[in-house]
Amino acid sequence: MKKVVIATKNKGKLAELEAPLKELGFLVETLPYDYPEIEENGTSFEENALIKARFVCSDLHCIAIADDSGLCVDCLQGAPGIFSARYAQDYPLLEGETKDEANNRKLLDVMKDVPDEKRQCAFHCAMAVVFPDGKEFVVHKTWEGRLLFEGRGQNGFGYDPLFFDEALQLTGAEMAKSVKMGRSHRAKALQAVIEMFRETFQSPEK
Ligand code: IMP
Repeated sequence: MKKVVIATKNKGKLAELEAPLKELGFLVETLPYDYPEIEENGTSFEENALIKARFVCSDLHCIAIADDSGLCVDCLQGAPGIFSARYAQDYPLLEGETKDEANNRKLLDVMKDVPDEKRQCAFHCAMAVVFPDGKEFVVHKTWEGRLLFEGRGQNGFGYDPLFFDEALQLTGAEMAKSVKMGRSHRAKALQAVIEMFRETFQSPEK
């Protein structure tokens, strides 16, 4: 059975990536809790995804998948973008607040005077697969929506409570995981990766 390592410690991302790869027949491994942080010093989603996948592939000698993703808000010229995970690092955490909650609080503060019709945004995902023989594959996908004025829903992670999908009239945090997997930037990128794996291996069990 072919082994693939998902190069992330983000539990929200893992929850979305692990099952579809297992269904495809891969032995899926994740990074141990104490695995060193990989410095994401690229200037684009693609560069950061490749940095993570290349590092893990050469360190663990197996196929590595990494995604770099984030929320890009039109009227903020694409911010927080590649800095989505650490957007609120200049905001002291309130008692009991998670980093995701602080990121959402900062974004709502920054956007408080922006009217509904100017709150368009999109999640972007670059997903990279690096093979031990040096082959590399990268795909980009997006998910468009609008930022609400307050969070709604308990599912998902990150900016999901603020991200409103107009077609479904739900936030990312209000939809069931299976629904998000039919809509999201990461799910679409993963589909492209799965198709690439199918063409490469026919069946990963061989
Ligand atoms: P990365 O680990 O550097 O790729 O950071 C991704 C960050 O973008 C996450 O920590 C979230 O803040 C945000 N993000 C990416 N994808 C999603 C999503 O599907 N829902 C909500 N937030 C997301």
